[in-house]
Amino acid sequence: MAKRGLLIVISGPSGVGKGTVRELLMDDKKLDLVYSVSYTTREMRPGEKDGVDYHFVDDATFKKMVAEGGFLEHTNFVSHNYGTPKKEVFEALEAGHNVILEIEVNGAHQIMKKCGKENLLTIFILPPDRDTLLARLVGRDTEDPEVIKARLEKATRELAMAKDYDFQIVNDDLSKAVDTIRSIISSRLG
Ligand code: 5GP
Repeated sequence: MAKRGLLIVISGPSGVGKGTVRELLMDDKKLDLVYSVSYTTREMRPGEKDGVDYHFVDDATFKKMVAEGGFLEHTNFVSHNYGTPKKEVFEALEAGHNVILEIEVNGAHQIMKKCGKENLLTIFILPPDRDTLLARLVGRDTEDPEVIKARLEKATRELAMAKDYDFQIVNDDLSKAVDTIRSIISSRLG
């Protein structure tokens, strides 16, 4: 039977560059990473694809999945629901692949409580400083000012939880941050 894969949780405030870090990590085929596509009730942003970036669903569908126990974790983030599908993650882990989740802190805490340390690696990505984070959020130009404000407030609360993760990595230089995370994952995989 294949060895059970490693569950890797990556968190960090909106705009910190988690998505880019994750995409670059996934380019390294040796790591055998499977990305778990989350479910969300938020609207699709320009350029996003259903089933690739997220499974975009309505509130009723999301509620039904919660009631059926379909999520490994789920949370409400700035007025929208987000959840990690249980079945896909478990199937990939059982098949021996390593699964990467890019989720916010409440969801990560649920996973830390549920999953033993043995098969779990948690990494928090930090911005170099608050101004850089604000500039990235505004520069992204995908949300209106109210949403940016809410995301920045949430970021402040999230940064306080970085200490709960196995590793905290500052994303001041993208390729350096990716290299560091790649080595952390490789050394956990042995
Ligand atoms: P965004 O709307 O910018 O795509 O995501 C907002 C936040 O929700 C980000 O911090 C992202 O990592 C997080 N997120 C995405 N999918 C999930 C999920 O399935 N569960 C949880 N808890 N957070 C998620």
